[in-house]
Amino acid sequence: MTQGPRLVMLGKQGAGKGTQAARLAEHYRIVHLSTGDLFRAAASAGTRFGLEAKAYMDRGELVPDDVTVGLVEERFTAHGSPLQGGFVLDGFPRNRNQAVELDRVLDGLPLDLAIDLDVPRDVVLERLAGRRVCSRCSAVYHVDMPPSRPWICDVCGGDVVQRDDDTEEAISRRLEVYEEETVPVLDYYRRLGKLAVADGVGTGDDVFERLVKVIDDWRSSSPASANP
Ligand code: AMP
Repeated sequence: MTQGPRLVMLGKQGAGKGTQAARLAEHYRIVHLSTGDLFRAAASAGTRFGLEAKAYMDRGELVPDDVTVGLVEERFTAHGSPLQGGFVLDGFPRNRNQAVELDRVLDGLPLDLAIDLDVPRDVVLERLAGRRVCSRCSAVYHVDMPPSRPWICDVCGGDVVQRDDDTEEAISRRLEVYEEETVPVLDYYRRLGKLAVADGVGTGDDVFERLVKVIDDWRSSSPASANP
């Protein structure tokens, strides 16, 4: 049986990781796992864990590694784990330690590819300032590309809102954290020969086509990994 790819999406905040990861998950029939979405769901459920995570998120800081790695590990060891069928991780790993921990959680199963969705800083700043998201299903909109009914999600009917961490202050802190903590993750995968860079500028459809090409080219040149 051909298994789905095991992918990590990397890129600055606002690069379009969430949107593209959701499309890739549908295309390859793999599980989309976003740590940001998991934290936001816990925060809106008002659990103690969620409120603690929200305090970090609202400041643009990373949630501590033990909590984040625990969350991902739980998902990978639970019933219906995406370990065999394939997955796209979105927002994890965010620092070098998390990348090392991911290798441990995968327990010898190789990751196929880490993709850096590359978008210049001025473009992400513009995207983040105008970004609006569905509070229920996380679909992403922009003030220049709103849902068809004012601020009601086209996909699920949920409320479309501005994220609490899309403030000017939190955005600039998140981009700083990206440079300090997440850029080393790119180097980590580059050294392993598993990093692909995809241009994230353009329409959603253009970027999606580019990503599928990168993944399919990689899989056809590494048949052993597509069918381990
Ligand atoms: P995102 O939706 O991926 O932009 O994540 C929103 C926020 O959730 C981040 O700014 C962090 O505060 C937190 N977060 C998400 N993923 C991680 C992670 N892998 N490690 C630590 N914090 C995370």
